Amino acid sequence: MSRASVFLVHGEERRLRAGHLWVFSNEIDVAQSPLTSFVPGTLVNVWDARGQGIGTGYVNPHSLIAVRLLAHAPDVAIDRDFFRERIGRAIAARVRFGLDRYGRMVFGEGDRLPGLVVDRYGSHLVVQVGTAGMEALREMIQDVLVECFAPEGILYRNDLEARKLEGLDLREAEAWGTVPEHLWVEEGGLAFQVSPWHGQKTGWFFDQREHRARVAQLCPGRRLLDVFAYTGGFSVAALAQGAREAVAVDQSEEALALTAENAKRNQVSTPRTIVADAFDALRMLAQSRERFGVIVLDPPAFIKRKKDFREGLLAYERLVGLAARLLDNPGFLVIASCSSHLGADDFRQAFARGVRRAGREARIVGMGGQGPDHPIHPSIPETGYLKVIYGLIEER
Ligand code: SAH
Repeated sequence: MSRASVFLVHGEERRLRAGHLWVFSNEIDVAQSPLTSFVPGTLVNVWDARGQGIGTGYVNPHSLIAVRLLAHAPDVAIDRDFFRERIGRAIAARVRFGLDRYGRMVFGEGDRLPGLVVDRYGSHLVVQVGTAGMEALREMIQDVLVECFAPEGILYRNDLEARKLEGLDLREAEAWGTVPEHLWVEEGGLAFQVSPWHGQKTGWFFDQREHRARVAQLCPGRRLLDVFAYTGGFSVAALAQGAREAVAVDQSEEALALTAENAKRNQVSTPRTIVADAFDALRMLAQSRERFGVIVLDPPAFIKRKKDFREGLLAYERLVGLAARLLDNPGFLVIASCSSHLGADDFRQAFARGVRRAGREARIVGMGGQGPDHPIHPSIPETGYLKVIYGLIEER
């Protein structure tokens, strides 16, 4: 096999030997294997400084993560059989949890398929290809997806921000087969409409499945404030469990429009919707002296890059502070962070500071993360990105 080689600097093989999949550009011996000589996405063999085989991966000289490994041995054939095996295992893991019809079927590094995300909405798939390496293998992957799922259509969402870091263009979505304007997802006995072409990410946030169910259990007889509500997943689940009322806040009018649709479809009362910036809406609700038994805060990642850390952390703290003031005494405050750069400890501290800011006391009565269809790679902490805190908040 005439595959190009990437050589590591002495000592940089240890993390990879322990199972990690990323080679950073500064770990490469560029005298022996100049990064600039590679076309983005090319398959390579990776060797340590002594010439011992480390793995098979794909290279991208434009990215800080210069190589992502697909296998931990050199010269592994990356062909249809390879993808059949990997995707087959990923599906089998979902089957164990009954999540193989609606859910994330492939979660990138977590399924040892870096750069590939596949969400399944029954008879349709929505795919995100985030790296040049996976883009180059797309046809092969598509053949295997068609084999494994026999879908009516596959939609490629090519607007993933990560593509920019790889030097890939951000483009309109493209479909294989037929993909209608709207799809449905079933979750917890409810049905939600999703907009695969124009919705956020692939159209639905499967990672919050468990939390939508858990939050709903806190809601019977209470008012819920659903902040960063998107298409109303938390609101509708809570109303179906007997919440007295739900108020959904989001800056996206399109997303909130689907909330009403989802309420109707599940025969629950229509949530009141507020199209606004979340911070403004929380201040406005305080001014009008509104109170809620449960508040859920599910913002987008406030820390997208490491350099946003301080500012992002402060945003979580401010959010908690504003929300805690709106709670009944006692009340539940549930906050999620999907920032992979934020550790659970720092997040908990920001939560604590926010509660103090509001002059309240908290006890944490639960913590959680992403569901089993978003498996965490044990050597790659970034793959465990979702953190959820359940606080029981009281007046001092
Ligand atoms: N809770 C949702 C998912 C939330 S995704 C669910 O369970 O499905 C994050 C949402 O935050 C998006 O809908 C986005 O439109 C919204 N958003 C982002 N920044 C915002 C802001 N500053 N104010 C209000 N909404 C915001």
